[in-house]
Amino acid sequence: MKLLPMTARRVCCPCRACCTVLAIPEYESGRGEPCPQECAKGCRVHGSDAQPAACRAFSCGWLAGAGTDADRPDRLGVVMATGRKDATAVFYEAQAGALEKSRVKRLAGLLASQGIAAVAVPLPGEDGQERDRRLLKG
Ligand code: SF4
Ligand code: SF4
Repeated sequence: MKLLPMTARRVCCPCRACCTVLAIPEYESGRGEPCPQECAKGCRVHGSDAQPAACRAFSCGWLAGAGTDADRPDRLGVVMATGRKDATAVFYEAQAGALEKSRVKRLAGLLASQGIAAVAVPLPGEDGQERDRRLLKG
């Protein structure tokens, strides 16, 4: 996937947003719940055989260069997951209401201009039920 220009190497710390938005069945952690493997250094099982499949498959769009420093997922409230092959990005809501931010819509519009569709995944409702995914328009 072609991403937006990046001016400096990026690192996760102190962001840990993906460890809350991803469902991790191996640790009985649902979407919107912090993973129990989070620790002061980030992840207790990083790089080991115990790292769940969802974490191995996840590719962070912000780390790869999308957006600006202000769009780091814990600041933006949205985690952008980028597919390696297809023309779709998934925008996981990490903070309630963040998918409605104009900045998030602008990022979706920038991706759309590159032929990449942004699929919005809201946080589960208060009852824990998943809410409908939808295309995010810029
Ligand atoms: S969401 Fe991206 S920047 Fe944040 S912890 Fe995960 S991989 Fe790192
Ligand atoms: S296993 Fe590690 S990388 Fe995966 S969600 Fe949990 S803390 Fe994050």
